[in-house]
Amino acid sequence: MDTSTNPTNPNPTVQVRRVLHPDELHRIHTVIRDAADTRQLLGTALRVLYDALSTDTESEARPIAPGRYAIPTSQWQAVLTAMTQRAQAWGTAAEVGLELALNLMPAHYDDPTVPAPHLPLPDYRPAEFQITLTRDAVDVIAACEAHLGQLRGCYGHASEIYQDALHSWHRILAAMLTMNTGRDTQVSKDGHLSLFVRTSSGLVYGLIFHGATRYCTSDGCDALIADDGTARPAHTGAAVRDHEHTPSYPVGAPRPGTWSFHS
Ligand SMILES: [Zn+2]
Repeated sequence: MDTSTNPTNPNPTVQVRRVLHPDELHRIHTVIRDAADTRQLLGTALRVLYDALSTDTESEARPIAPGRYAIPTSQWQAVLTAMTQRAQAWGTAAEVGLELALNLMPAHYDDPTVPAPHLPLPDYRPAEFQITLTRDAVDVIAACEAHLGQLRGCYGHASEIYQDALHSWHRILAAMLTMNTGRDTQVSKDGHLSLFVRTSSGLVYGLIFHGATRYCTSDGCDALIADDGTARPAHTGAAVRDHEHTPSYPVGAPRPGTWSFHS
């Protein structure tokens, strides 16, 4: 259905807005299953999808403009899920899912009358994963645990400082262990409390500790306070009052902070 002249079309750039037929879904499912690598998966499956949606009037040579097309959300989700699941064979599911959702898939629209298509695929994840930690990385993990213990001891188990740090640490460790990024993962040190991760799918990322900045909490004082207690302006021209500063966390106390992912 061409809705370019449809006044109810919510997105004026969408020119083809329709349900994929079962035989079109079957062709897409087949090329997803038969893809040999990530590049082929993205190339062939999307080609089949857009060939189905393209109208005869369009030039074959014209680059695909995903925003010109829209399919029902149920079908959109099923195709995205199938392609992401297929990419697990190569440890690229995260990148494929993101790239599809943000850039490559057509637009979608809600149509509750269109059922979610069944596009079954086997579990493509490798049967085993290997994570290699350098000796330094093991020391970093021990240091992170020790730092959490210090935060708990200083600020208390129920404190926001300890709870935020603990949950962020738990979250990134669990993500590193459960994210399928290929058969092999190498973890090394990237700082006193930070790790560097290189995966066999080519993805690299950091698990980085972001320590809080110690500053004076008094009104009208823009001082940063160093670990030795000395104060300096937070930025050029910032006012530093001549008074007993009130540090946002005590000098000599363990540094609050959280861990997060950085690609
Ligand atoms: Zn101050």
